[in-house]
Amino acid sequence: MSHRLDRVRAALAEQRLDGLLVSDGFNRRYLSGFTGSAGMLAIAPAAARLATDFRYWEQAESQAAGFEVIHAPRDPGEWFRVLVAPFGGRRLGFEAEHVSVAQLGRWREYLEAAPSGQRPELVPVSGLVEALRAIKSPDELASLTQAVALGDAAFADVAARIRPGWSERQVAWEVERHIREHGGDGISFSTIVAGGAWGAMAHARPRDVPLRDGEGVVIDMGALAAGYCSDMTRTIYLGEPDPKFREIYDIVLTAQLAAEEIIETGMGEDTAHEIAHRVIREAGYGDAFGHGLGHGIGLQVHEAPWLRPTSSAPLREGMVFSIEPGIYIPGWGGVRIEDLVVLEDGHCRVLTRSPKLLAG
Ligand code: ZN
Ligand code: ZN
Repeated sequence: MSHRLDRVRAALAEQRLDGLLVSDGFNRRYLSGFTGSAGMLAIAPAAARLATDFRYWEQAESQAAGFEVIHAPRDPGEWFRVLVAPFGGRRLGFEAEHVSVAQLGRWREYLEAAPSGQRPELVPVSGLVEALRAIKSPDELASLTQAVALGDAAFADVAARIRPGWSERQVAWEVERHIREHGGDGISFSTIVAGGAWGAMAHARPRDVPLRDGEGVVIDMGALAAGYCSDMTRTIYLGEPDPKFREIYDIVLTAQLAAEEIIETGMGEDTAHEIAHRVIREAGYGDAFGHGLGHGIGLQVHEAPWLRPTSSAPLREGMVFSIEPGIYIPGWGGVRIEDLVVLEDGHCRVLTRSPKLLAG
């Protein structure tokens, strides 16, 4: 983890900060290796401290190499008190996106009551650790690849057995069972299974209704393995696909393959999105693709980068993200196809192996 601390410290220096409080659980795990569910970090140029409560002292000592573990009561206010003490008169960053208004109010009350020499200047920062997390190390890529392979295996198992009469909830359960029975820690998010017209909702919840012959089924699923998430969507068809399904499927697949082929290191997130959106728009369905093309993935199923029209940061070597165009037509249904890719040697290498329906 020490190289991760080096990168945080470099980012702190860039922002002229003397330290950073880390409240977010995923950021805490990423930087310290500590997998417990509670605690707070303070990172400074020459110190790294982890405050956590009685339940986790032993675990923290063994997992958080390079961190001084501070024994504190089970209260974020207490963690704050012990961690800010060395930062009197200095600029101390905190994670604006992961501290509630109520929590910040309590922190400010405490600082107002503290002797002036012990008061740091609290500076809100945004996405500092998340930006580091977006670039995956070889170890992380290995864990992600393991999660992807488990997802592929679960899909293959279920796709070979699925038939009309199964409910959407049964499909979701069979996916989860396969993952659990084959070494996964669980699913990385609630599996989406949407038959027929239900597939017009990009984030449909599985129902108890039986799947029928002659309808498309959107299956969006992922496995959790070694702390890392996978995420994949396949749209299958029960029976022989009708011409409308083929038409829509071909457009989505063409858009997806174009994006996987053309997206490259250095390209803006919005430009990447536009590659797929343009294919879909020119086929006449531009308004039917209303979400972003993709998202980063790692410890969390949705994290930086964000491939969407409203963000323009450059994609960087080592990022792992989804490419998942879709077309959604109310009353008819939807088609989405999603792979995970890693940017390597300037281009996308597709990690997902599950087969797609043949175009044409
Ligand atoms: Zn997905
Ligand atoms: Zn996704």
